[in-house]
Amino acid sequence: MAVREPIFLECTECGNRYYRTTKSTSTLKQGQKLELSKFCSKCRSHRPHKERKK
Ligand SMILES: [Zn+2]
Repeated sequence: MAVREPIFLECTECGNRYYRTTKSTSTLKQGQKLELSKFCSKCRSHRPHKERKK
């Protein structure tokens, strides 16, 4: 059974915290960091966002 874990996505450029979302622990290996390309309102362009807990 998959557990949905709440996480934040943080811009790797400016550190702006962006999305609060969830990840499924079944899709990622233990300890693997989620990284997504999201639009950052500070950078005004797409930047890689890494997961950050809490
Ligand atoms: Zn940014």
